[in-house]
Amino acid sequence: MAQQYQVLARKWRPKQFEEVVGQQHVTATLQNAIEQDRLAHAYLFVGPRGIGKTTIARIFAKALNCEKGPTKTPCDKCDSCREIAESRSLDVLEIDGASNNGVEQVRELRDTCRYVPARGKFKIYIIDEVHMLSNAAFNALLKTLEEPPPHVKFLFATTEAQKVLATILSRCQRFDLRRISSPLIVKHLKEIAQSEKVKADDAALSAIARGAEGGMRDAESALDQLISFCGTKIEEKDVLQVFGLVAHDKLAALTNAVIDGDTNAALLIVKELDDAGKDLQRLLADVLDHFRNLLVMTLGAEAAQLVEAPDTELALLKAQAQRIDSDAVLRMMDALTAAEGRLRYALSKRVFLEIALVRAIKAREMVGIDGVLKKLNELKGHLGSGASLPAMPVASAPRPVPQTTPAPASASSVEEAWAYATEHLGKVTPLAKAHLVGAKLLGLKGNVLTVGFDPEFAAQREFVDTPRNRELLQSRLKEKLHIDVALRLEVSEAAGMATPKPTKTAPAKASETTDFRNDPLIKKALEVFKGTIVEVRK
Ligand SMILES: [Zn+2]
Repeated sequence: MAQQYQVLARKWRPKQFEEVVGQQHVTATLQNAIEQDRLAHAYLFVGPRGIGKTTIARIFAKALNCEKGPTKTPCDKCDSCREIAESRSLDVLEIDGASNNGVEQVRELRDTCRYVPARGKFKIYIIDEVHMLSNAAFNALLKTLEEPPPHVKFLFATTEAQKVLATILSRCQRFDLRRISSPLIVKHLKEIAQSEKVKADDAALSAIARGAEGGMRDAESALDQLISFCGTKIEEKDVLQVFGLVAHDKLAALTNAVIDGDTNAALLIVKELDDAGKDLQRLLADVLDHFRNLLVMTLGAEAAQLVEAPDTELALLKAQAQRIDSDAVLRMMDALTAAEGRLRYALSKRVFLEIALVRAIKAREMVGIDGVLKKLNELKGHLGSGASLPAMPVASAPRPVPQTTPAPASASSVEEAWAYATEHLGKVTPLAKAHLVGAKLLGLKGNVLTVGFDPEFAAQREFVDTPRNRELLQSRLKEKLHIDVALRLEVSEAAGMATPKPTKTAPAKASETTDFRNDPLIKKALEVFKGTIVEVRK
């Protein structure tokens, strides 16, 4: 057989610490440890898949066992280096925790690690996905790890450090690997493309990097696939087509529409992308990524330098940061993040995404309560001590509202109290109230008032259930029911068919409303915010 085709990820696998892209904080530390002869018994490499954990472990193994070693630059020529590179070293055993739970191999490890290494200085055990080892394998491993012979080194890798037993974690030196930034991936892909004599423009390589989400191995595999798909010339449109990604300019148009509050434009773009068969889950992830960068960009010039993105993206982010502040970006991200986890299970991804985008646009338009209070307080100063702040409850200092005659605690009064409490919550945080609309009052037992959320909207419960909202609702309920109420917000099948009930008008509200409209402070506030009273929420 002629020369066998070697996949790019393998062909370009780094052989030296210096060649590992984007993980200098790890490789430099390991090289220092080797140089200063301060080696630990066990190392744990943590991070998402395909960013270099086992690659670093293998280079480390070579560095330790190289005939010229331990050295920070293994020679790659001696028998030991070559055997390790070809995975046939008797002194370096690789165990994949994911493939067979490794019990047998770990038992073997326990039995063999007592013997001195065959050729190198160390017996090295590389265990990938160590969190997936079965309990039996873990226990066998732990015994060895507790009293390791001096010639044994453990190199563990995992994508989920939180699943690794604490007893193992405590015996390891831990390194957290980072996702690799897009510019670094693009730079590396460019080198590969050149050496493979493939023409690929920056836009195409950026799109690959975006699709790979910080994983070099995925990026290399993608390039491999594209070369077999397109031959020696790769353009952005090929990449987008193969991976179902959305073109950068469409993403730019969509985020612009959301930021500028142009609901129509946003929905049109979603329709177009959906019709073209784009992956909408992926689209939402891209939009969120974009807003994360935008958030950093709005935090000031110093923070803005931390944003790592291709030049076209940076220019867009800078322009958008001129039109929006960080509070607004945060509110929009809240709305989008709430949708992200649930989009996967949505029957119609498109409708779900549309709702999420409309929510984000609304959230952008909202003036934060802190902003309102600040402005109002400023106004209060201007108007002199004569004017007082209107009833605007704030969680930290709930202000009693003029009370009418106490109502007896009947089922209807419980409902009324709940309506009253949610209306007041709505004045402080309209969004929280909006999330309560679908919730169902399940009843008052003793002093526990239970409110149920349709399982499909479980995330709304999480949104509402903050100490601040809780305190506010409970204090309002107490006003009406004259007992200390413990509020229980639960996800419940019983709330499945909840229909929003028309809220009853609480007594004595009409005059409050009129007062509110005539309040000099409110009038002034409307001027400042260039607003009109559309609806007075009671
Ligand atoms: Zn060597």
